Amino acid sequence: MPQKYYLWTVGCQMNKADSEKLAAGFERLGLKSTEHIERADIVVINTCSVRQRSEDRAYSKLGRVRELKAEKPALKVAVMGCMVGLKTGDLEKRFPQVDVFARPQQFEPIMELVEGKAEDLGGEFWPSTYAVPEGPTAYVPVVHGCNKFCTYCIVPYRRGREKSRPMDEIVREVAYLTAHGVREVTLLGQTVEAYGHDLPGEPDLGDLMRELSALERLHRIRFLTSYPRDMTRRILEAVAALPKVMECFSLPVQAGSDAVLESMRRGYTKAEYLGKIAEVRQLMPAAGITTDIIVGYPGETDADFAETAALLEDLRFDKVHVAAYSPRPGTIAWRKMPDDVPAAVKAARLHRVEEIEARISHELNEALVGTTQEILVEGIKNGQPFGRTRAGHLVHLDATARVGALVDVRIAHAGAFSLRGDPIDALTLA
Ligand code: SF4
Repeated sequence: MPQKYYLWTVGCQMNKADSEKLAAGFERLGLKSTEHIERADIVVINTCSVRQRSEDRAYSKLGRVRELKAEKPALKVAVMGCMVGLKTGDLEKRFPQVDVFARPQQFEPIMELVEGKAEDLGGEFWPSTYAVPEGPTAYVPVVHGCNKFCTYCIVPYRRGREKSRPMDEIVREVAYLTAHGVREVTLLGQTVEAYGHDLPGEPDLGDLMRELSALERLHRIRFLTSYPRDMTRRILEAVAALPKVMECFSLPVQAGSDAVLESMRRGYTKAEYLGKIAEVRQLMPAAGITTDIIVGYPGETDADFAETAALLEDLRFDKVHVAAYSPRPGTIAWRKMPDDVPAAVKAARLHRVEEIEARISHELNEALVGTTQEILVEGIKNGQPFGRTRAGHLVHLDATARVGALVDVRIAHAGAFSLRGDPIDALTLA
């Protein structure tokens, strides 16, 4: 009977990509995945500490692991991800049942838990083991870590400094993925345009996109998350010029007031951010742009927040991800800045951003009714195929379509969060 592993993941796409990589390593050693934690021989909890809610979910999962280990002492347990490091001491005390703690991408100690591990993974687990794709889309990390140290963020402490993967290794991985049915890859980095500055010859993200565009079976390339100061004209021109690269940007602004941006140490002013958006829209008028906002940051006044609300009205993002500030232990803000915006004020600001976002997204979606959009069919939910436009809008199709096909769709209906339409023509059945 092969050993079984249960892998639970919370957090960002990077964490999901790490879990997929780990799963690929387990499968390579002959283990089988199980969705039932009580049937597992190895349990891995992949954690996130960006929000309190994510930590609470991991604690609750670990509570279940504690009960299971009492019933089944041979069970092996690993905790990985961003809660490891700063929180390891606390976790060790509360959950002595855990056998291994591993930081993000530290796969080897977890692989050591596999009984009778026959294969030597060569000490270089990361590049040589590819995740098995489950559909036509896949995430591919291209640069790990972050050098920016925004005051509220734990990522640079947990994931370390920026480290780019060599281009040939990424191309090999994407070629493998396309040979296994993947038609769209999303290139991942905490600040994805930082790609390449630490590699010989200093290639940039545009160079990587050019290389990947040459892969015949690859139809689409997405990328996230963008960081305004790393987003050079050269990269933007590559995005605009390469047909396989989607005009879709995830460009967090976080706040609309220079005082708050400075306190967050975001590294740009509001004017610089506006300049970047203008550049994107000048080169790609139909580009989809989403952003992230934190409300209730320490010291954020009503006037600061009014600037954020005005910026959202002006820039009309396709989607806004909003969160109320909560101090994350280990960050600069947690050490030095009192969390002084009352909870009720944070909640009211959050609500205001959600109202603006719902209205504007609906208006932007309405404007797409009657247009024709190219969709990659990503899957089928409740019998209805779905996929995204080049700019990133979610579309449900009112007809059958094969997963992985690129189809032209006439948009017939707009809701607040998605669109509906009928396929006109299958562009390719590859
Ligand atoms: S850019 Fe700032 S918010 Fe983004 S991962 Fe780096 S430190 Fe965190």
